[in-house]
Amino acid sequence: MDLQLNKLKKVISKSKAQTFLLELPEGLKHKNEEIINKLENTKKKFVLLIDTTFGACDIYETDLKKSGCDAIIHFGHTKFILDKIKTKIIYWPCYYSFDKIDIEKTTKDIEKKFLNKKITIVGSIQYNKFILSLIKELKKHKKVKFISGMKTQRLNPCQILGCDSSSILAIKKKVDAIVYIGDGEFHFNALKNVLAYKYNFNGTFQLINTTKKTKIDALFISSKRIGIYVSSKLGQNKIKIAQRLEQKIKKIRKKVIIIYGNELNNNKLIGLGIDLLINTACPRITDDYKNYDMPVINPEEFEELYKKYYL
Ligand code: SF4
Repeated sequence: MDLQLNKLKKVISKSKAQTFLLELPEGLKHKNEEIINKLENTKKKFVLLIDTTFGACDIYETDLKKSGCDAIIHFGHTKFILDKIKTKIIYWPCYYSFDKIDIEKTTKDIEKKFLNKKITIVGSIQYNKFILSLIKELKKHKKVKFISGMKTQRLNPCQILGCDSSSILAIKKKVDAIVYIGDGEFHFNALKNVLAYKYNFNGTFQLINTTKKTKIDALFISSKRIGIYVSSKLGQNKIKIAQRLEQKIKKIRKKVIIIYGNELNNNKLIGLGIDLLINTACPRITDDYKNYDMPVINPEEFEELYKKYYL
């Protein structure tokens, strides 16, 4: 993993901030010593945040003063919510390192699978440099027709987040397939509404799972008290949406409670007296609905059910 620490050293040396709160994703926390050793001779001070940082949305700006820091360095993601807060944040993306041989192999696999087809390629930010090299190679060979996504306020043309795939909005109907490069299902699941394939580095491609959730219509109709989860995380906080839903639920004569907090899991819901949950936070939480004892739906699913049964 390329942490670009020499570049970061220059950035923080120029910063007026003296003490930085380091926000590291779980997978990079073990690198904290390496990072601090490298940055130490800037004469700046560092505090390591021990809490979980789930994504670019997860900024601990209200903890700055309490941790004695003047600014945040958020590793692993690109700018997400900088405009919303005055606090200084340095978003510091990190990139996987790779060899020429990896690019050659992936190029061959893609050309074999999608020969003469129109494709685009997206992935999480960690794979951005890999994807750019791959695109260069594919364009040289001309065995597939590559169509590029677009840069948005948050995303590079070949980048997606688990909650945002707007980079491919304008081209998703123009391509035969979207190839996803990355680990796990988290970001990949943001592509549920398009024909997307995840590239497995063993040369195979996995078609996205578009299986719909079991219908919860009956559970929705019979629910008596609905919870609406609102995240305290700056980039996931949707209190306005929750308040609007709250009013709608009251009108259909069901009880409703807004539940606010930093993290959500099934244990936290036990004994709260609710029988259905609307999740307004990270949309990927709703993908884990099987881990919950009650139905968990997102606001769009609620709106559909509301329209179907109460309008
Ligand atoms: S809301 Fe979810 S998907 Fe979006 S950046 Fe945050 S953790 Fe990632």
